[in-house]
Amino acid sequence: MRVGIVGGGQLGRMLALAGDDLGITCTTLDPAADSPASKVAPSIVGAYDDPDALGALAAGADVITYEFENVPVASARLLTSRGVPVFPPPEALDLAQDRLAEKTLFTEVGLPVPMFAAVGDAASLHDAIDAVGLPAVLKTRRLGYDGKGQAVLHTAGDAAGAWRAVGEAPSILEALVAFDREVSVLAVRARDGTTAAWPLVENIHRDGILRRSTAPAPGLDPALQAGAERYAAAIMDRLGYVGVLAVELFVKAGGVLGNEMAPRVHNSGHWTIEGSRTSQFANHLRAVTGLALGDASMAVPFASMVNVIGQPPRDAGAVASVVGATVHLYGKEPRPGRKLGHVTIVADDEEMLQANVLQVRSMLSDA
Ligand code: AMP
Repeated sequence: MRVGIVGGGQLGRMLALAGDDLGITCTTLDPAADSPASKVAPSIVGAYDDPDALGALAAGADVITYEFENVPVASARLLTSRGVPVFPPPEALDLAQDRLAEKTLFTEVGLPVPMFAAVGDAASLHDAIDAVGLPAVLKTRRLGYDGKGQAVLHTAGDAAGAWRAVGEAPSILEALVAFDREVSVLAVRARDGTTAAWPLVENIHRDGILRRSTAPAPGLDPALQAGAERYAAAIMDRLGYVGVLAVELFVKAGGVLGNEMAPRVHNSGHWTIEGSRTSQFANHLRAVTGLALGDASMAVPFASMVNVIGQPPRDAGAVASVVGATVHLYGKEPRPGRKLGHVTIVADDEEMLQANVLQVRSMLSDA
């Protein structure tokens, strides 16, 4: 099987590496000649909306997938029109690109969400504040990631500044949730409709960027797991979904609220390479190529992932020497706030996990 991947970042790279083990050849499309994936797999250099580049990707692939959710929907539809299946389906891409459509979908499948209202202009922001209350967070409907395109409002006087901060773009205003913690559910649906899900992961963000994930989420209540899996399955069934889906959730008073979804492999699932019997990357490829899904249960009792952000470790060898640690560097140029790699730490007990995670963090500049 040959899989074409739109996007050649670290997710494309890890997909290609997983494909190699399964005898699946992955080719990526990326505008950068030195993309992280290009160092491990064949790669086409071109814009995501360049018909020739998309045609070349389709010509060499049995199925197409993508590694980021801002792939132009028109490109996904163009690839489909070339007779090559695109999974997850372009409709999932379309929905995930618009926070309003996404929240509406969550509501339709019964997943509660923070109170929200659509904002189209400065006047409707005031109506939204009346409807949602304060504090609240204003988010652009499109093209936001890692906390970009967001502004928090504490008082009505913050409205004008927040509206400018989101570039006066169509947005949604959401109630700011005082959550207990953030978790994500990663699930996968095969072409025949069978599904699997990994244990819920607890995620720690700072400045809107994921710093650490822990699996299973400490003190995980089986009812929370079952509920999250049901919501993910309902979303996937509704969309005729194929591939890995990540849904980010806020946990509050034992219940969950849906924040956002990613129709792709996800940073909070990187621990699955070492920590699960089948990684998110292998299961995504198995799903889109029509293979049976692999076992998504944990291969170790506890796993954590720490992102390497901004600066590479001063001594990657020393990090790799921490008991249970595996270092993954993506071959990217350092830049403040940029995800350059991650470290997975696995352990037999929670105390050992915490100690080894602390040791790894002490060796990284921005963890
Ligand atoms: P997002 O891009 O929507 O995932 O937002 C990035 C991060 O901002 C989330 O992971 C949360 O930590 C925080 N955040 C987003 N929306 C809310 C909200 N409605 N209430 C509280 N925190 C939020």
